[in-house]
Parts: sequence; C-alpha cells; structure tokens
Amino acid sequence: MMANGRNRSGGDELVFMALGGIGEIGMNCYLYGLGPPDARKWLMIDLGITFPEGENDPGIDVILPDLRFIEEERSSLSGLVLTHAHEDHLGAVIELWPRLKVPIYATPFTAAMLKSKLAEYGGKLQLPIKEVPLNARFDVGPFDLELVAVAHSIPEPNAVALHSPFGTVLHTGDWKIDATPTVGPPTDEARLRQLGSDGVLAMICDSTNALREGRSPSEEDVARSLGDIIRSAKRRVAVTIFASNVARIKAVAQAAKASGRQLVVAGRAMHRIIAVAIETGYLPVNFKYHDQQHFSYLEPHEVVLLCTGSQGEPRAAVARIADDQHPEVHLDEGDLVIFSSRTIPGNERTVGRIQNRLIDLGCELVTDGDALVHVTGHPRRDELKEMYGWVKPRIAIPMHGEARHLSEHGKLARAAGVEATLDVRNGDIVRLAPGEPEIVDEAPVGRLFRDGELLVSSDDGPVRERRSLAYAGIVVVALVRSGKGDVVADAEVALDGVPSADAEGRPMTDIVRDAIEGTIASIHRDRRRDAEMVREAVRRAVRSAVERAWGKRAITKVLVTRAPR
Ligand SMILES: [Zn+2]
Ligand SMILES: [Zn+2]
Repeated sequence: MMANGRNRSGGDELVFMALGGIGEIGMNCYLYGLGPPDARKWLMIDLGITFPEGENDPGIDVILPDLRFIEEERSSLSGLVLTHAHEDHLGAVIELWPRLKVPIYATPFTAAMLKSKLAEYGGKLQLPIKEVPLNARFDVGPFDLELVAVAHSIPEPNAVALHSPFGTVLHTGDWKIDATPTVGPPTDEARLRQLGSDGVLAMICDSTNALREGRSPSEEDVARSLGDIIRSAKRRVAVTIFASNVARIKAVAQAAKASGRQLVVAGRAMHRIIAVAIETGYLPVNFKYHDQQHFSYLEPHEVVLLCTGSQGEPRAAVARIADDQHPEVHLDEGDLVIFSSRTIPGNERTVGRIQNRLIDLGCELVTDGDALVHVTGHPRRDELKEMYGWVKPRIAIPMHGEARHLSEHGKLARAAGVEATLDVRNGDIVRLAPGEPEIVDEAPVGRLFRDGELLVSSDDGPVRERRSLAYAGIVVVALVRSGKGDVVADAEVALDGVPSADAEGRPMTDIVRDAIEGTIASIHRDRRRDAEMVREAVRRAVRSAVERAWGKRAITKVLVTRAPR
C-alpha cells in the first residue's frame, strides 16, 4: 500500500510530527513535512515552553523542547508560524530561534507580544518577524497557509489551514466556541464549514478539555458575573487573572467603572500586556488605570486592583500581597480577592498557600468554584463535536493533551464519524498522505531545562545529580598524598545535607574518618601508591559506613591531592 501511494505522487509525502505538546499540556512545537522522505521541506508551528511539576526538577522553572531533530535539518526548515501569544506556544522562541534562524510569521498582537518580550531580553537579538494580517493566506516555502480566526483566551488566536497537493490539513491551535468573546471575533464557523465542504484531509486538534462534558460559558457571562460581584462589594476588591487575558482585563475595568471604582494595576506582566493591547487596538487608547503606587491613596470602596499571580507564582503581586510583603499594596479585614482563573494541575499547593494567607489577613475569597469568575479557553466535548461536524476531516490527530485527554478525544472523533484517528506522541512521524495514515518513523525528542542562564539536557544534565543531592546529600573526603606518592590518612571531611550524628549521637565525621583510616590500614603499604585504587576503596567504605549509620546512601566523593615536597 505504501509503495502504491508513493507511485501516485512521485515520491512526495505529507507528514506531521510533534517535538512537544502531545502527551502533555505545554511546550507546543509541531512540524509538517512535504516532499520525498529524503528531501522534505519543513514548517514549524509554535515553539513554546512548559513548567516543571512539583519539586522533581530542583532549580528549574522553565522547560523547553529539544529541537535537535530539526536543528540537523535546519536548511530545509522554511519558517515558524505562531498561532497565538501564550507562553506554551511562543515562550521558547527567543531562546531557541538562534538554533533555527528562520523567518517567524505572526499576527499583529502575537508579533507585538514577542517584540515586547524581546525588548525586555536586552536588545541583543534581532528576530525576523513577518507580520501577517488576520485571515491571511500566505506562502512559507512550499506551504500554502491560511489563518482561520478562532476564539480562545488571548487576542488573535488562529487555526492554520495548510493547503497541500494532498488536501487541506487544519491545525486548530488552542480554541473554543464563544459567540461573544468580548475581544476579537468569534470562531469563524462559516470558513470552517466551507473548508469542511471543500474536503479536509486531517485535523490536528486541541484536547485540553476532552474530558469535560457540555460546552463552556462565554467570556461575556464572566464579565457580567464579575460586574455583579464587584458592584456588591463593600471594601477593596482585588482580582487576579492570567495576565494575557485581555478580555478579562477589559471586564474588570468595566466592572470597576460601573461601580464607581478606580482600576489599579500591579505586576510587570500585566503592565506589558496592557501596553501591547492598547498598541494593537484591543484596549482603547484612553484606557484608564493607575499604577500600584496610587493604591494607598484610594479609599477601600474606591478601588479595584488587578494583579498577577493567579497560578501561585512566588514573586508575583498576589503572593507578595498575601505575605503582606508588597511595597504598595496592603489588604486586610473584609477585603475581597477574586481568583478569576483556574488553577493549573500541579499548582494547587502554591495557590492554596496564598489563599490561606489571604484568609489569615481577613480577606474573603471568590474562586471559580464559588461563582462564574472564569471560563476555559479550550473546547469541551460538545464544542469538539460541533467542530468535527463543521470540518469533517478524514483523519483526526488529537494534540495539546495528556494521554487521558488524547484517548478520550480519539474516541469522540471516531464517534463523530472520523475514518482514521491516530493516537501519537512526541517524536512519532505520521505520514498523512498518500495512502492510509500511519506512523512511519520516529524522531529524537526531549526536554531542555533552563538552568540559570544556560540550557541543559534533562537526561544527562546537572539536574539529575541535583535530584540525588536533594534526596540524600553529599559526603566529600579530601585525601593527601605524601611526597613519595603514599596516601596518608589525615583526611578532610565535609558533609552537606547529611545528619551530623547517628542514632547514638556519634558524630558522622568520626564515622567517616574511622572508615577512611580502617580502609587505608587494610591496604598493603606498597599498593597505597595506586591513588586511584585507594580513592575508590575509600569511597566505597565511606559510603557503606554512612549508609549503616543513617539508613540512606549519600553521594560520596573522594578527592586526592598531593602534598608539596
Ligand atoms: Zn493558548
Ligand atoms: Zn496552549
């Protein structure tokens, strides 16, 4: 069948793969390839980051996709198209672009967000950003692309339709159906239906909410509900949101105005988004708000504070307010804090801690569990069904989800009449056409950690050692060799993260020293000149002695230095 397919098209194929974003929610990076298997041209869609879960990766707060597969084929990569400005779709562009050096295509808001980030980066880097209008149709290398407007939770989210000799592929990006998104147009149902009736080969589609029944409320419903809550508040109101949600910024500003309050904004990310939204026309030029310095001059009933930190980020405004450590903003008894966001899985503990501190200050809380103060930006099951009804793809590939989301999404697509659904993972190279779709190859994929100012591999990098250090600490022994090359027993011992004494109170350093002396004494004098052998014997003896005393195995290092003659 494969050979037949190839004959029909002179060897050309259309393939799809993810370098990140399938099997996880975050770090989106997708590739489409066109041409014969040994000479494909590639297109990249999105290049985002993800965040570590829990405390498994000590010292790491940002994770990027490992692009080595496409770095090796850089000359055949035609360009990078960004669907929207969320960090899980463009957060890795600035750091990884130097490895790709291709043109970047984005609509005005997304381009402005990227430029604003770049300016904060220090102006060291110039990016070839090619701005394209909404609904644009444009070529990137051999790829004939069309943007289709969708609704989401940030201005200018786009689906990308790839028109190819094999048919059209719709890459949905992040989307939902919302007739009244309050910022930007609703999802372009007419164009999607048209694509569907012209025939769509494959749809690569958002799976985030594939486990949630029904459909999500509209952003307009949230705006109304926030208005009601803020109007009936007696004292200060603080609202924490995802900074990039411009529709929500607008809703809070309108609610403030309607209740005769002034809007105060705290948090650098929020200021940046507001500036970009004004620049690109998503907020009015005369959008009125005060900087955080103004907060203390306003009476409690006069203020609505908009702030960052809805995911528990420790340095963001709401975390500092909760700890009463914010230089300008202070909340107390009877003030209301609205969490106009959903806590991303993995952040529950840090968000919970902030909420506890706010309650300790005497604040009242409203979360999305109490009232309609947040809606998701991703399609629930009825919205997915509607999309499949419009687009009617022959092939469905669920993306933007963990395994459980992908598999439920696959079932839903089959029930919606899709002929072929593929459950793929990062690195699987899927031939979409010609012939039956199937996984034909596998590409190397992985994760890079941002560690300080460096990018290191997650597999063999320093973080793996750091995990063992965090678990069991380290014992360092320094041995000195005499001028004759003999190892003498006067060792220096340092312990970090190891208990200072055993259960009987015997100092751990004594236990280590005894092990060293005993080991050296047990080695015949002539053999002690073999520094490497002595080093390894001492290392093993020290490690076992500590393990016997403690019940855990510390990382053990032995250094051998030579005494001056
Ligand atoms: Zn998004
Ligand atoms: Zn996303």
